Amino acid sequence: MADGLGLSNVTIHRGETCLLSVDTHINRGEALTIMGPSGSGKSTLLSYITGSLDLAFKAAGSVTLDGEEIDTKPAHLRQIGILFQDDLLFPHMSVGANLSFGLDRSIPRVERKDRINAALDSVGLAGFFDRDPATLSGGQRARVSLMRTLLSDPKALLLDEPFSRLDQDLRQQVRELVFNHAKAQSLPVLLVTHDMDDAQAAGGAILRLDR
Ligand code: ADP
Ligand code: MG
Repeated sequence: MADGLGLSNVTIHRGETCLLSVDTHINRGEALTIMGPSGSGKSTLLSYITGSLDLAFKAAGSVTLDGEEIDTKPAHLRQIGILFQDDLLFPHMSVGANLSFGLDRSIPRVERKDRINAALDSVGLAGFFDRDPATLSGGQRARVSLMRTLLSDPKALLLDEPFSRLDQDLRQQVRELVFNHAKAQSLPVLLVTHDMDDAQAAGGAILRLDR
């Protein structure tokens, strides 16, 4: 089976009502945008993929990652990274300590610090290890959230309208940063949004959920 993220005949129901059905595949290094209005089931689809679907829903169909079916695995073993609109950093903990949550626990302390500093460097935040998250601008916070997700070494990246809270100028910058990093790591990216500009920035196919 093909590399990348596959959604085969995925349907999600709430009671008798079918919320959505999707059948698609995203290659490594490519992006797909699923567009739909608020309430159309975008976040619910992502929670099915990450393994955190609420019990109010019933899903069928398979999710594959690099050819392996992952929908039967527990969430923490799926190797799916996700970014949300409001990614909360833990307060009263340094930026570096926040990033440390992304890293596998088996990595030794010195290497952790190096990996975190390299990640900060790669998004223009060199020297931010000891900063208090409360002192960061919106754009800086978005960068730290992206790095926290990427440090966990995901094999796919899901984006749940992560740009919608940012101002226009910043939004363009953060979009570019996210898509460039995902591409550099050859990740398949699934973006869900109701914003056409986000979809265009993703640069891939666009699928519409009708409602
Ligand atoms: P979107 O992300 O496209 O705005 P959601 O996936 O959040 O849509 O929600 C899809 C539908 O499911 C909405 O009608 C929403 O109210 C409903 N919903 C969301 N979460 C739950 C839940 N935990 N229990 C029951 N209904 C929910
Ligand atoms: Mg949503």
